[in-house]
Amino acid sequence: MTERSFRDIEYNYRMIDERIAEAAEKSGRRREDITFLAATKTVDAAAINHAISLGLDHIGENRVQELLSKYEQYDLEHASLQFIGHLQSNKVRQIVDKVDLIQSVDSLKLASEISAQSIKRGKVTDILVEVNIGREENKSGVFAENLEELLAQLAPLEGISVKGLMTIPPICENTHKIQKYFNIMHKLFIDISSKKLDNVSMTILSMGMSADYYEAILEGANMVRIGSALFGARNYT
Ligand SMILES: *Cc1c(COP(=O)(O)O)cnc(C)c1O
Repeated sequence: MTERSFRDIEYNYRMIDERIAEAAEKSGRRREDITFLAATKTVDAAAINHAISLGLDHIGENRVQELLSKYEQYDLEHASLQFIGHLQSNKVRQIVDKVDLIQSVDSLKLASEISAQSIKRGKVTDILVEVNIGREENKSGVFAENLEELLAQLAPLEGISVKGLMTIPPICENTHKIQKYFNIMHKLFIDISSKKLDNVSMTILSMGMSADYYEAILEGANMVRIGSALFGARNYT
């Protein structure tokens, strides 16, 4: 990490923070109502910890191997670590004692494994249910029409607590279109919330990334997951 990239991260962090505040205000809320989570895939721990030193307090990883390889280096005294990527059931046991929230739960099988592994460790793991709002093939997430049924199946699982919903909408050619998806998600969030299902609290609505977090907040997101706008373009090599 160079001095220059540290300064870039600082500049980006302040900019994003201001835009979050502006979108929050525009949607009748306050800056502190919105959680800024940094998506840290491919980003080294020094850069992540620099962002944490600026005030960032939530980070999210996508891949189990990468999370484990960086785990000892994160400054987790000052930030909460979450899992935001697609998670295979057979890898749950490797991370369940390390993360505060798993955002990407979309099946009873995965939820059952998280619950079982959590109970073994005497903890309850907070989860979000991922919704495939664009009904895209080959994309994780439950379809909206199957959400309530899945939530009912999760209710008896004592090792998990459902805290809300997350989504990654389809890539859209304009912001108007993507805003529609965010709006549908927000309606779903409100609708589920009003049903007061067992073991389900609709507290977190996680949507919006670098290109569209502003629009997501306008439509009701209270957690945004931002990677490249904070750390710069990802280098996968
Ligand atoms: C990478 C990633 C993000 C952030 O993407 P950017 O476009 O770089 O902001 C958000 N959510 C998930 C699940 C991701 O994998």
